[in-house]
Amino acid sequence: MDLLNTLVEKGLRRELPSREEALAVLATSDDDLLDVVAAAGKVRRQWFGRRVKLNYLVNLKSGLCPEDCSYCSQRLGSKAEILKYTWLKPDEASQAAAAGVAGGAKRVCLVASGRGPTDRDVDRVGKTIEAIKEQNEGVEVCACLGLLSDGQAERLREAGADAYNHNLNTSEGTYGDITTTHTYADRVDTVQKAHAAGLSACSGLIAGMGESDEDLVDVVYALRELGSDSVPVNFLIPFEGTPLAKEWNLTPQRCLRILAMVRFVCPDVEVRIAGGREVHLRSMQPLALHIANSIFLGDYLTSEGQAGKTDLDMIADAGFEVEGTGTPTLPAHRVDVEREAEGCGTGSSCGSGSVCGSSAADVPAEPAATAEVPEARTDLVAVRRRGAGTDLAPNA
Ligand code: SF4
Repeated sequence: MDLLNTLVEKGLRRELPSREEALAVLATSDDDLLDVVAAAGKVRRQWFGRRVKLNYLVNLKSGLCPEDCSYCSQRLGSKAEILKYTWLKPDEASQAAAAGVAGGAKRVCLVASGRGPTDRDVDRVGKTIEAIKEQNEGVEVCACLGLLSDGQAERLREAGADAYNHNLNTSEGTYGDITTTHTYADRVDTVQKAHAAGLSACSGLIAGMGESDEDLVDVVYALRELGSDSVPVNFLIPFEGTPLAKEWNLTPQRCLRILAMVRFVCPDVEVRIAGGREVHLRSMQPLALHIANSIFLGDYLTSEGQAGKTDLDMIADAGFEVEGTGTPTLPAHRVDVEREAEGCGTGSSCGSGSVCGSSAADVPAEPAATAEVPEARTDLVAVRRRGAGTDLAPNA
């Protein structure tokens, strides 16, 4: 298919596809799905080989959030019966992190619910980062604490954080439909603050909230423009007790197309399959590894994932290998751009030699995607009842 050949060539050159090409990926038919995966796989292997990076979530503070993000089980007024607890102590967090590292994770993601941290919270997380780094040589730590105030990113960096996560989640045009207590611009500002402080920017999206294909393309282009080094792609888990509980909009095929579109737009970036992997990709998870180069090991913040051992078996069975701590995740050209950005203080690594494609001339008229009838798989949604904040061993 001309479209896929064009996208592979552009991906290998780190060239930005046109919006029309990105939209055309989302509109491909089920008959073309394996070709789409194979094409995205060529781009993935060029920049990441057959490596899969494992990340491990530690929910430092769960629930009780004053913000109203409609997709979130921890939001203001959520009736979801999730674990609720306040800040874990540094040694408790470090213990949870150690389980993930022992399971093969090279990055630990420290997440806390809330609008954003106080300076005291930043101190507390700083101590947690130090404890984790002392006990786990070579581990990367990413903090995810909400909106940052001036100076907080620098303090996290000084404490040893490698990265900061703050997702854009959806397009600027629809952001106000999912959250009213903060804005898309607030989120962009925090990603920029993190980047300017020399932290690797991790920022992604949530698919399945009722957005259009155009919204998905908009947010992925915005993430590329922001210079995000890792792009977590979440598939909405419609939690009972949240406003989006009835939004079962995804099929495994749709998820694969979305991942492929992200790979083509962000060819040399860590594309991570995040929350909702098991619920929406189901038995198609191994195919998604041909597109994405990163997953979360074990459980998510408030829901349970498949057993860590099952994750590892899946990676091995599909012919991939877990990325070790000694191996850089990003291709050398991106690491160099990061270093330059740190040195000059501009905090910008976007573009990476990209050329903004605008011609739709080589995009064939695609048949409409096969009609999809998503199933409401509430049977696959399990609220997390183990690991951080409980007396039970974590899943890793
Ligand atoms: S700010 Fe974070 S924890 Fe709070 S509702 Fe939004 S996504 Fe959930």
